[in-house]
Amino acid sequence: MMPRDAEVVVVGAGPAGLTTAAALAERGVERVLVVDRDDEAGGLPRFCSHLGFGWEYTHRLETGPGLVRRLLRRLDSNAVTLLTRTSVLSVKPGPKVELVSGRHGHMHVEPRAVVLATGIRERPRSARLVPGKRPAQGILTTGQLQQMVARGVPVGGRRAVVVGTEHVAFSILLTARHAGLDVVAMVGAEDRIMSYAVAGLVARTMGVPIHLSSTVDDIQGADRVESVALRGPSGQRSIACDTVIFSGDFIPDAALMPGSGIAVAAATSGPSVDQYGCTSAPGIFAAGNVLRAVESSGLAAIEGARVGTNVAAYLEGLLAWPDVGTCIRLTEGLAYIVPQRWVPTNDSGYATRSLPISLRALADVPRARLRLIENGKEVWAGREMKVLRHRRLALPAAILDRLRGGDAALHLDPV
Ligand SMILES: Cc1cc2nc3c(=O)[nH]c(=O)nc-3n(C[C@H](O)[C@H](O)[C@H](O)COP(=O)(O)OP(=O)(O)OC[C@H]3O[C@@H](n4cnc5c(N)ncnc54)[C@H](O)[C@@H]3O)c2cc1C
Repeated sequence: MMPRDAEVVVVGAGPAGLTTAAALAERGVERVLVVDRDDEAGGLPRFCSHLGFGWEYTHRLETGPGLVRRLLRRLDSNAVTLLTRTSVLSVKPGPKVELVSGRHGHMHVEPRAVVLATGIRERPRSARLVPGKRPAQGILTTGQLQQMVARGVPVGGRRAVVVGTEHVAFSILLTARHAGLDVVAMVGAEDRIMSYAVAGLVARTMGVPIHLSSTVDDIQGADRVESVALRGPSGQRSIACDTVIFSGDFIPDAALMPGSGIAVAAATSGPSVDQYGCTSAPGIFAAGNVLRAVESSGLAAIEGARVGTNVAAYLEGLLAWPDVGTCIRLTEGLAYIVPQRWVPTNDSGYATRSLPISLRALADVPRARLRLIENGKEVWAGREMKVLRHRRLALPAAILDRLRGGDAALHLDPV
């Protein structure tokens, strides 16, 4: 298929883009074009050789590349064309897609639907306002280190400090070891690690000290990093190291949103979507981590599969492009919710699928409960629970189907 004949263009061949394409093909859509600017499909997982990818979707213990291979095998090559080394330069209302491809050059495509599955970006050190020198070598983000290791590029250092304590920061310990780096410290600004307790245990078993309630105060080094200074509860301390790996400052890769007609959700910096993955721009859907930074590859894959089903319904005229619907207001203590909007349930009889809900709190709360209030009346109250800000809060999607279009607010009440 030539790109200009595509009925659907999926931007991004990570887990979300690949499952979107598979679901479209399963529903009989025959001209699906998946494009990725990278030289191979797979998105971020293809650079991560440790286990723990795709669990929620495949229920298997797989590495990143293992998950990618599985998702690629599921693609029906008669219906889906995968075009790598192809960058989408813009998406405009219509929808219209402008792309540049090593194989086809500069092109304009006018598909019936577009799915944004562009994932996340990591903010580099320069955007994190970390004081100190700017040595030419030795300062990396987790994504950069993953790519260097996967592509066989020598990292050059011996002793690394990892800044961040969320899931990704712990997964980088294995990658660092693989790269010949000895991680001599992890640093977290919070008073606990932002991941599961078992992750902290693994780090300590590997002999990695974790400095909590601490920040990087200074980086020293001319050509290469020589040390970092940490400020923590017991004052300042200097740690000799030649590599600093920054983790955890992720944002949706929303570069295609300006000019596309897609409304941005302030809380996530990603597109605002309804439960079917519809953005505010007719014909443009979104799935995966572009919706918010950052969830697991398994969740991104589930989102892609569901959005693919919904796009197929839209192409068949069984999912009318919805209005804005009910915007769910979050009250104090809640960071974000995805989807942000809820529209009346599609009753065409077609099996449209709601996105799983990503709901996060701003801070830990020892005991709290969620309550959904519509027009001043409580329509649902959850059970008491412990709230940890690094974990998704459980809110069944069916609860939101009860909304009737009034003012809806989600409360997190400490108890
Ligand atoms: C260091 C690290 C470790 C991780 N470890 C784990 C883990 O252990 N387990 C786990 O489940 N998850 C892990 N994750 C998270 C996991 O990688 C993501 O959940 C998953 O990759 C999200 O999939 P996605 O399809 O939304 O986006 P991505 O995988 O990021 O894919 C997006 C794709 O879009 C492409 N793209 C973007 N813009 C354009 C454009 N304009 N034109 C063309 N192509 C474009 C990109 O090249 C990319 O291939 C980790 C993430 C990182 C950064």
